[in-house]
Amino acid sequence: MLARIEARAADHALAILGGFAAEPGDGLPEGTGSLILLGPREPGFWGYMTAQPEWRDGLPDPMDRWSARTITALAAEFGATALFPFGGPPWWPFYAWALRTGRAFASPVRLIVHDEAGLFFSCRGALALRERLQPVAGISPCARCASQPCLSACPVGALGAEGYDVPACHAFLDRPEGAPCLEHGCAVRRACPRSQAHARMEAQSAYHMRQFHR
Ligand code: SF4
Ligand code: SF4
Repeated sequence: MLARIEARAADHALAILGGFAAEPGDGLPEGTGSLILLGPREPGFWGYMTAQPEWRDGLPDPMDRWSARTITALAAEFGATALFPFGGPPWWPFYAWALRTGRAFASPVRLIVHDEAGLFFSCRGALALRERLQPVAGISPCARCASQPCLSACPVGALGAEGYDVPACHAFLDRPEGAPCLEHGCAVRRACPRSQAHARMEAQSAYHMRQFHR
């Protein structure tokens, strides 16, 4: 079944980011046997996304609207319930769920780091399945990252070992010196070697920065 989900998700430029068999305390809907997280499949996600009707209609939040349509349709195919990290309430505990997959980890800067996407981890939604599936876990890229460049990459120290000072980040982005972050993506996320190995396009990072700093 996992292989079928992977194949159908790939038809929509999505990949399985990880999953886990449900346990008490996971905060999942009643009757859930397992949860599968879905996110951008690289390379190719941004080209696919920007050809979708939600991107072209000029209305707000195209990526969330596309995610809702696509993942709801995928859920229907597999008799699952679609859950999203946006549009709440309810506000589902996606951070905790990502860690439960064993493929996403708390990085030294506290952002989630994923075994494939690095600090470009982006979850577009999840399938709550009745079946009890257990996808394979991964290894944290931080275990093999001696220099930990994420800790010192922010030019104003807004994101580091102490966590994320969001007002300081916004203040920097308002200045001309903040242009590289807006145009190419957060320097901390880009500094991670695992992120660099993930074929995410800068245009996608710039979109997310515009969403964050609007
Ligand atoms: S830069 Fe290194 S330590 Fe920091 S999140 Fe990436 S892999 Fe982990
Ligand atoms: S976007 Fe730029 S200023 Fe904000 S946390 Fe990332 S590196 Fe720092």
